[in-house]
Amino acid sequence: MSCLDKSKETVMNTCKITVNKTNKIAQRAKLKMRINEYKNKIEDIYNSIGKKVYEKHIREEDINIEEYLENECEKIDKLSKEIENAIEHILILKDMKKCPECFSEIMIQYNFCPNCGKKQYNAKPREEKIIEKLEDEDIDSTNEKEAQIIEEEKEN
Ligand SMILES: [Zn+2]
Repeated sequence: MSCLDKSKETVMNTCKITVNKTNKIAQRAKLKMRINEYKNKIEDIYNSIGKKVYEKHIREEDINIEEYLENECEKIDKLSKEIENAIEHILILKDMKKCPECFSEIMIQYNFCPNCGKKQYNAKPREEKIIEKLEDEDIDSTNEKEAQIIEEEKEN
């Protein structure tokens, strides 16, 4: 391999790494936006529950809202779970993980938690799946809010 080829290869590799890093940042931004969407949805459900309860009070009718409340609470449970998953995915994209014992954010390669000493299990294999899933959805870089989050992430 000539000297020229070698330097070309280095440039290409560096470029690849940069793209990969930018991609991860974009994915983190996307997950953060999704978390905000879920939080807004939960707020909307709280509002509608409140309205329903007040309606029942004001009408003084014997309407049964128990089933409705049960359904809405289940929706909140699901959204909360989604938020938890998204937070975990963000950590993995940052090459971090959460200690299941003390909930400290620690480096993904640690076998033991530096905070509490709990043995860790490797969460690495899940990362590829997440990235695959996110790459399926196209990231719209023209979205102003997202671009702003990406900029913020780059500064960190
Ligand atoms: Zn710990």
